[in-house]
Amino acid sequence: MHTETDLETMLLGPVLADRACGDCTACCTVLTVDTPDFKKPAGTPCMHLASHGCGIHAVRPHICRTWFCAWRRVADMPDEARPDRSGLLVSLNFEHEPRNCFEGVSINVRALAGGDAIENGMAATILDSLCDRLIPVWFSNGSKKMLMHPENDVAHLVLSGEAAPAHLQNEVAAWRERYGVFAANG
Ligand code: SF4
Ligand code: SF4
Repeated sequence: MHTETDLETMLLGPVLADRACGDCTACCTVLTVDTPDFKKPAGTPCMHLASHGCGIHAVRPHICRTWFCAWRRVADMPDEARPDRSGLLVSLNFEHEPRNCFEGVSINVRALAGGDAIENGMAATILDSLCDRLIPVWFSNGSKKMLMHPENDVAHLVLSGEAAPAHLQNEVAAWRERYGVFAANG
C-alpha cells in the first residue's frame, strides 16, 4: 500500500459508493505497508488481523483508512472481481526505482495463492476491463511478472525508441509522452 491517494483517484477514479470490502481482507495479508506510522511485510497477515477482520478497525492506521484496491474504484471491473472471491488483487503500483518506463506507475493484477482465476476466465475478464487506458498493466503470480498492456509490439517501440509505423505512431507517442519520465532508469 502506498500513500499516493490523489494519483490513484486521478488514474483509477474515486472510491465507488456501492462497493464495500465486506469479508475481504486480502490487502491486509498480501501487500507491503511501509508508512511512517505503520509497516508490514508482503505476504504476511497483519498483526492486527483477527478472525472477523481488522481487530483495530476503529483506530486503524491512516493508510488503512485511505487506501483501496482497484476493485473499490473501477466500475468496469465486475462485482465478482472482489479479491476474496476472484483470487485476484488489483492495485496501482508505484516503483521508485523502475527498470523501465512501464514500471514507474502501473496497474498490478496479482493472482493470489490457491485461486483459479486463470482457469475460470476471471483473469481474462479483469484484464479486458483494465487494458483499454493509458496505464501499463502487469500480471503477477508470485514467481513471475508479465507486461500485459501495452501489447508487445507497442511496448518494444516505446522502449527501443525505434520509429513506429504509421498505424502505431499516435499510441507509441502517447505512451512515451506520459511515461518517458521513467525511462532514465531503464
Ligand atoms: S483487497 Fe480491496 S476489497 Fe479487499 S479488503 Fe482490501 S481494499 Fe477491501
Ligand atoms: S491495521 Fe487492520 S486494516 Fe490495516 S492492514 Fe492491519 S488488519 Fe488490515
